[in-house]
Amino acid sequence: MNDKNRQEENLIIIGGGPGGLSASIYAARNGVAPLILNGPEPGGQITTTSELENYPGFPEPIGGFELTQKMTEQAENFGVRLKYESAEEVDFSGDKFTVKTESKEYIADSIIIATGAEPRTLGLEKEDSMRGNGVSYCATCDAAFFRNKEVAIVGGGDTALWEATFLAKFASTVYIIHRRDKFRGAKILGDRVKAKENIEILWDTEVKNIKGEKKFEGILIFNNKTNEERNLDVKGLFIAIGHKPRTECLKGQIELDEYGYIVTDKKQHTNIPGVFACGDVQDPDYRQVVIAAGSGAKSAIEASEYIEKKENSFPAKEVKMKNHAAEANSKDSSDTAEKEEGGLSLSLSLD
Ligand code: NDP
Repeated sequence: MNDKNRQEENLIIIGGGPGGLSASIYAARNGVAPLILNGPEPGGQITTTSELENYPGFPEPIGGFELTQKMTEQAENFGVRLKYESAEEVDFSGDKFTVKTESKEYIADSIIIATGAEPRTLGLEKEDSMRGNGVSYCATCDAAFFRNKEVAIVGGGDTALWEATFLAKFASTVYIIHRRDKFRGAKILGDRVKAKENIEILWDTEVKNIKGEKKFEGILIFNNKTNEERNLDVKGLFIAIGHKPRTECLKGQIELDEYGYIVTDKKQHTNIPGVFACGDVQDPDYRQVVIAAGSGAKSAIEASEYIEKKENSFPAKEVKMKNHAAEANSKDSSDTAEKEEGGLSLSLSLD
């Protein structure tokens, strides 16, 4: 590979959703110029959420795509570089880390993995086209849009049971559609849904198809023991049959748990010093934008400190802020303790 196809970086962030973007903003403000390998599409899973009502700072609901655009713009104001390339292979075995994309090989002092997780789908016709318009994979995000309406949720694991209880606070009736006659999830969660008056459990039941052409108009379900079919005129279909963390490019390079999530400690460190992870790829429990953004901030603070302490870091790249971001930053840097070492400026402010 010639030098044109090989690039040295202090910090590479793999993934440009809320976790990766938040990490990039914190890193750049700490004087580390990150490069985001975003993949071909901007924004991560959040872009498929129609509206967010629970991201602080937005009193009116904001579209997932719009929020990503704002985060990206904010990152670019801080000089963050985004490449629409996918990490295809990594090598974390040496002192420097390698990330290969289709066209380039990147060598970095530190890596933040923010590749996210994708919900498992049922594979129904129209499931994809109705996503955000009747079909949802996140009750915490979308339950409030179904106040006093009937909804269905598919799955029998902890997520489905927890989300059914949450949905029951808003919806008039919640149908749990489970393909077996026994829940997989914890007994306590099962007991809780059984005790709720507005939750009805449909055992041995599956969804055959989604009704409606352009607009969601309910679902057709069937009992997989009797083959009996019936229409369920719900206004929303929640699918909670598990998530798949995106770790294909990491093959054997990093510790994963039994479900394939990256194992991190409280400070977002993985088992490889200098490699950090944030957002849904390491979070089987919450999967919330605000939490991804928070863990992104933590991973960047930790990565900045790691790069600063590392003895043979690549020369620091200049953080090229756009004017108004630079002005805002210089204003608040007056009350921020700054430490200069080896040309890398590390802000110790944790705001
Ligand atoms: P799980 O894999 O535990 O459960 C998935 C559920 O979806 C199962 O009931 C499964 O059915 C069903 N399912 C899978 N594929 C299909 C399909 N094609 N059609 C219909 N049904 C399907 O995933 P979860 O997201 O529930 O949980 C993942 C992990 O996260 C678990 O470890 C869980 O404990 C943890 N978690 C913990 C929480 C907590 O409160 N601590 C909250 C949420 C998750 P079947 O049972 O027949 O296989």
